[in-house]
Amino acid sequence: MQSYQAPCDALANKTILITGAGDGIGRIAALTYAKHGATVILLGKTTSKLECVYDEIVAAGYPEPAIVPLDMRGATKQHYRDLAATIEQTFGKLDGLLNNAAILGSLGPMEHFCVSTFENIMKVNVTAQAMITKYMFPLLRKAPNASVVFTSSGVGREGREFWGAYAISKFATEGMMQTWSKEIGTTNIRINCINPGATNTSMRNAAFPGEDKARLKTPLDLMPTYLYLMSDDSIGVNGQSLDAQSK
Ligand code: NDP
Repeated sequence: MQSYQAPCDALANKTILITGAGDGIGRIAALTYAKHGATVILLGKTTSKLECVYDEIVAAGYPEPAIVPLDMRGATKQHYRDLAATIEQTFGKLDGLLNNAAILGSLGPMEHFCVSTFENIMKVNVTAQAMITKYMFPLLRKAPNASVVFTSSGVGREGREFWGAYAISKFATEGMMQTWSKEIGTTNIRINCINPGATNTSMRNAAFPGEDKARLKTPLDLMPTYLYLMSDDSIGVNGQSLDAQSK
């Protein structure tokens, strides 16, 4: 689906929640979904970044977004319950959830992993994704067709030395998507993963500080797959892990 061409109104009348919407791939996904007609709910840790994305969307004349500043590391059940209640009151339903926010932590040998860093990575990359999906589920059920997209990684499909907790968290993400998608079977909700592949963002630059950034794909290059899984053209696609760029 890397060559998917979305009609310009592909996401009209849809409300889509994006985690980590203030930067990197999540930011471009938010702008792209809004450009295709969606009302986007921008969730992220840094309010000023979310406000910049909000301003860009409004300035472009796309549907007015909403902002949810939330640190998913410390977020509790009550935060997600409150968020669900607000979305229900404002929009009545949720058509899409892009679980994109993640942290890299530090790379290094498993033998010397730092327990608190490991726990933080699991909280943001795994537990928080499971929690937000659980609490959004009743709203996703209210949409005619809803799409949940988790964000995987190449290191979540085949272990790689020194990628530690981040890699383990991405294996968990693939497992969560498979488990959940099998449980729901054929309903109005579909649940899939995207593996973005090497992409020029702060996370990639932190992992590979010495590489030539100009040779990397940009978040914009990935958007055909991100649009495909959120658009009704992917109805019936469930339990898949798609690559957003060719290897
Ligand atoms: P970035 O680091 O550029 O962006 C991550 C986003 O997640 C930021 O908006 C950040 O917010 C948000 N975030 C981080 N921690 C929290 C938190 N505790 N609570 C709420 N939001 C948080 O990463 P990418 O755009 O590169 O990555 C996006 C996704 O793609 C991730 O799941 C990543 O694992 C995956 N991926 C990326 C690849 C790449 O090459 N870039 C390759 C494979 C997978 P803030 O800026 O405010 O901290």
